[in-house]
Amino acid sequence: MPEQLGHHFLNIPGPSPVPDRVLRALSKQVIDHRGPDFQRLGREVLEGCRTIFKTSGPVVIYPSSGTGAWEAAIVNTLSPGDKVLMVETGHFATLWQKMASRLGIEVDFVPGDWRSGVDASLIEAKLVEDRGHAIKAVMVVHNETSTGVVSSIPAVRRAIDAAGHPALLLVDTISSLASVDYRHEEWGVDVTVSCSQKGLMLPPGLGFNAISEKAIAASKTNRMLRSYWDWEDMLKPNANGFFPYTPATNMLYGLREAISILLEEGLNAVFARHQKLASATRAAVRAWGLEILCRNEAEHSPVLTAVMMPPGHDADNFRRVVLENYNMSLGQGLSKVAGKIFRIGHLGECNALTLVAVLGGVEMGLSAAGVPHRGGGVAAAMAELQGSSLDNQTTDVRKG
Ligand SMILES: *Cc1c(COP(=O)(O)O)cnc(C)c1O
Repeated sequence: MPEQLGHHFLNIPGPSPVPDRVLRALSKQVIDHRGPDFQRLGREVLEGCRTIFKTSGPVVIYPSSGTGAWEAAIVNTLSPGDKVLMVETGHFATLWQKMASRLGIEVDFVPGDWRSGVDASLIEAKLVEDRGHAIKAVMVVHNETSTGVVSSIPAVRRAIDAAGHPALLLVDTISSLASVDYRHEEWGVDVTVSCSQKGLMLPPGLGFNAISEKAIAASKTNRMLRSYWDWEDMLKPNANGFFPYTPATNMLYGLREAISILLEEGLNAVFARHQKLASATRAAVRAWGLEILCRNEAEHSPVLTAVMMPPGHDADNFRRVVLENYNMSLGQGLSKVAGKIFRIGHLGECNALTLVAVLGGVEMGLSAAGVPHRGGGVAAAMAELQGSSLDNQTTDVRKG
């Protein structure tokens, strides 16, 4: 099939494509994880992570998926029987809630419509009501990858402060870190959870916890059994650049390179590029006459766009047609929205021309799968891309 020539388009919203520079960095020989070369590497990546998470405090790196980093955040700060407040923004918020419940946490799970972000005023009201301070943590997902909706973390912080409530703030930034503006320290987050295979442009395999002083204090007194995930075991050797057990050395080579790439472009330019790619994608979807799952203009994800299928048309059949004809993987609808939506990932190593190709594949796929739509989506996206400063940002990347 001639369509299968050329590279595969991996446009699911994570894992995202890995840049060649990172692939080369990953392929270096393994070194002694107790030797001086490793110590330099360890110090560099731990310091680099502080820059990416925007914190002066510690960032713990686990050999794990994002799910592992979720668990680490819970078991280091909470105790069985503790109450927490969470919001059902979509599939990932639901999975995190289920994990907390399995660990014996009592979750007040605010229902959501899977089309909107966190309503900070509701959080404030719930915390004001909780005069006895039974709620120990507010846990939210920054970028809900199943719906393409971003929640305002500063608004959640303001809600907690306005209520004068001491609850910890735990945030999942698994699909937003290094793609969407995020500031662990300035926004007063206690634990930021993330992982390697989305905005950080690495393969799956690293999980992260950025930790505040308040979270460390909670970890000294909470009553949850833990061993592998224990922060204290990590933080002691991390102070010298080492790890308590064999670290994922080659992933750390990759992480060092990925951080360099991000800082050469500049984090603000990275964020602006994602915004621009997302707005061009929305221009295409609107030109096709299809509906975007995210309801509120201010909450559109810069990382992915979730597109609703017209009634009677199966999103998974459409995705299969796109894969078979154009060698491109699009994200599937998860749980509640399975078959009803598809997701276009435009994160990490993605630029204007990558996006034009991706949207070309979607537009041709809509025709090939017989999905009713108007033409002109790619043209609308190109107009959006040209009417912007993206060209200037691309120049900056080359200079870097
Ligand atoms: C991908 C993702 C996860 C899960 O990460 P895994 O590495 O698959 O465990 C959790 N939360 C969000 C928001 C995600 O996008």
